[in-house]
Amino acid sequence: RARGEAMATTGRRTTTIPDTQILRPDNDEYDAARQVWNAMVDRRPAMIVRCRDTDEVAAAVSLATSEGLEIGVRCGGHSVVGHAVPEGGLMIDLTPMRAVRVAPARRRAWVQGGALLGALDAATQPYGLATTAGNVSHTGVGGLTLGGGMGWLARQYGLTCDNVESFEMVTATGEVVRASSDENPELYWGLRGGGGNFGVVTEFELRLHETGTQTLTVELDFPVGEAADAVARWRNLSVTAPRRATYEATVAAGVVTLGFVWVGDPEEGRAHARGLEVLGRPLDQRVVEMSYLDLQRRDDSVDGHALRRYWKGHYLRDLPEAAIEALLSHDPTVAASLQSYGGAIDDVPDDATAYSQRGTVFEYVAAARWTDPAADEERMAAARASAARLDPFASGVYVNVLGDEGATGVRRAYPPATLARLTALKDTYDPDNVFHLNANIPPSAA
Ligand code: FAD
Repeated sequence: RARGEAMATTGRRTTTIPDTQILRPDNDEYDAARQVWNAMVDRRPAMIVRCRDTDEVAAAVSLATSEGLEIGVRCGGHSVVGHAVPEGGLMIDLTPMRAVRVAPARRRAWVQGGALLGALDAATQPYGLATTAGNVSHTGVGGLTLGGGMGWLARQYGLTCDNVESFEMVTATGEVVRASSDENPELYWGLRGGGGNFGVVTEFELRLHETGTQTLTVELDFPVGEAADAVARWRNLSVTAPRRATYEATVAAGVVTLGFVWVGDPEEGRAHARGLEVLGRPLDQRVVEMSYLDLQRRDDSVDGHALRRYWKGHYLRDLPEAAIEALLSHDPTVAASLQSYGGAIDDVPDDATAYSQRGTVFEYVAAARWTDPAADEERMAAARASAARLDPFASGVYVNVLGDEGATGVRRAYPPATLARLTALKDTYDPDNVFHLNANIPPSAA
């Protein structure tokens, strides 16, 4: 048992899943239901169970274990390697569980395990409320929150996982448990960063904040060959920036775009933007005021479905000149990005949650997208080579950007003490590793 924690359950549920909720390969809706964000993922589950509530999730877990079927859990389907889709296994499809309920006076939202970020923002923004969520609205709350959850509000309010008050989860034996600071506290620790390793989360209770509805984005373009000084100055500004500013940089197709996203009064954002004059004269610049909801959808189409995708990421604690040089000498077909961390993310002690790389200063991702399957190897190799240039400067990696790195990637995502504590928790909640299609924490007996 993890740190003496006995699993306190709220009971085992028994229900039968109606046949109408189960898709098999001969069903008309099967092909659409097995598709996920990355078009490279083309796997065929034996069945897809479209769960409508916690009881059906529990029944689906029991059905899979009794039939000996491998389990995949699908929320938004944005795992870059398509962990949600088990070849020949049982996909627990949470897409019917997308409801979000808000209690504005209490600043709380209850979000079902299959909800997308867009539904969360749409339900909270009419009250001028929000909580940290990722930057693309068709991403799932499930996978994003369980791995951490980085977004434009994180420097003000912490990661998404830092804003979870409680979880409801179905275990590997089909039991329903709750996790909060006073119910199964060790599980509460592990679900905030430990991914889908312990069970299927059917509901997240999230804390909301008075964020207002206004934002400002500032983007300055520089030619890649002359941008080294500008990137160094942008880095210096980012580390002292107010928490309302999240600095971002992208390098793609010969252009470096430097700037920040501001959530709050746009006039204050414009005042902060004047500091960017030290970057030099840009090729082009865009200063755009938009609603928070539009900001949250800004990248939806460029990061849309139906393309072939591959990425590699690093966490960085510093961005020395040599790292900037490596960044700027990328393969021009690979898009590289940097996003600043710090602020409220780093207010939380590293051992307070399973997410534990809070001293990160920038997250770096090298991403490739293409359409022709014949180009797969070449495009993946280009992204790998770009990321390899930054290897010497890496301090770790964000678990939610892991792709095909396997156990080595998991060791980069969690420091040894965190990994040992996660392993003990896995021994308690999933000793047979029923939930292994994820950034897997194997039980100690494995
Ligand atoms: P799925 O593929 O549905 O789920 C991924 C895994 O999460 C599953 O295999 C399962 O192990 C687990 N899981 C999902 N839901 C549950 C549940 N309810 N209970 C138990 N386990 C579950 N991350 C950020 O932090 N910030 C960003 O801004 C951001 N932007 C992104 C934009 C795009 C376009 C993409 C593709 C990804 C982005 N990510 C971001 C990374 C994202 O957090 C991960 O890809 C995450 O796994 C997506 O979760 P999902 O529910 O959509 O994916």
